[in-house]
Amino acid sequence: MFNLGSVSTPSKTTDDKGKHVKVLVIGSGPAGYAAALYAARAELQPLVLTGMQLGGQAALTHTIENYPGFPEGVGGAELGELFQKQAERFGATTEFDLANAVDFSQRPFKVTTDNSQYLADTVVISTGASPNHLQIPGEVEMTGKGVSYCATCDGWFFKDKKVVVVGGGDSALEEGLFLTRFASEVNIVHRREELRAGAILQKRASANDKINFLWNTIVTEVVGEEKVEAVKMKNVKTGEETTFDTDGLFIFIGHTPNTQIFEGQLELDDLGYIKVNSQMETSVEGVFAGGEAADPHFRQVVTSAGMGAAAAIQATRYLEAQEA
Ligand SMILES: Cc1cc2nc3c(=O)[nH]c(=O)nc-3n(C[C@H](O)[C@H](O)[C@H](O)COP(=O)(O)OP(=O)(O)OC[C@H]3O[C@@H](n4cnc5c(N)ncnc54)[C@H](O)[C@@H]3O)c2cc1C
Repeated sequence: MFNLGSVSTPSKTTDDKGKHVKVLVIGSGPAGYAAALYAARAELQPLVLTGMQLGGQAALTHTIENYPGFPEGVGGAELGELFQKQAERFGATTEFDLANAVDFSQRPFKVTTDNSQYLADTVVISTGASPNHLQIPGEVEMTGKGVSYCATCDGWFFKDKKVVVVGGGDSALEEGLFLTRFASEVNIVHRREELRAGAILQKRASANDKINFLWNTIVTEVVGEEKVEAVKMKNVKTGEETTFDTDGLFIFIGHTPNTQIFEGQLELDDLGYIKVNSQMETSVEGVFAGGEAADPHFRQVVTSAGMGAAAAIQATRYLEAQEA
């Protein structure tokens, strides 16, 4: 299990304005702990705020088979625990706390949490993103048991199986096409009669023998005991309800970056992702971001960890330049 027992010692000072740290990492997923590891090894005693999901999204999944270094795969929660242990071994500390407001208008930066207030010389944001959910019965219970939000991660488990994909945008078609490498049948369910995806993707999907489209249809329930066995569907035009046997349900109806608290403080793109340059610098000097909070494209453990590490390297250089 994760080590929630370690009560952190502030790396600098505590006064009535808050605990003063050199590096505050907001988020405890792969990006957060990779950032903490690098900052800790630079002897900056970073403090990690966990948020609600210690270990991040990766901890929600049963097995991760595409993170390098684990030829047999690794449990999602176990990988998160290893990330945490490794960072703490070099002096990072963990606070089970949620940031709910930031003030980046002056240094030290101010971060207010549910339990405390922090003053930080640099901040690394790694608050991730959350896949949008259908919010239907059985979805939460069957996540990791046939319900998935990532074809790159889970497609392999569906060799010669039948799957349902929900969505009508680029990701639904891209991921649906990717799933045809494994699955025997990919049924794309879309609530409208026309797709939002680009023309080339539409052409490719229509030409693929393994892909079927179910138009004007929504998925209303996931059915299964130990794993997904079927989904209930409804035709929104006729009202007809059916039960559709399937081994998996892939949901691609968008992601929402967890960046609401940074609105008005940092530049965000139209979808709410934090804008960073190639050095993980945000629009505020001294504030860095990595992982899915700043990445709508790759959304993997390895890419997020890489961005987190890069953000911490840059934060270290920034602090060194300040002290020079
Ligand atoms: C079910 C599932 C299975 C997946 N399987 C794989 C896989 O097999 N392989 C793979 O490479 N990728 C997989 N992914 C994707 C992978 O998990 C993500 O790309 C990765 O976790 C992103 O890392 P991150 O650190 O950027 O963000 P996240 O993992 O999203 O972590 C964000 C962190 O920020 C914290 N946080 C959020 N808001 C606040 C706040 N206000 N204050 C403090 N903390 C906050 C959260 O609690 C969390 O700790 C999967 C994703 C899901 C959902």
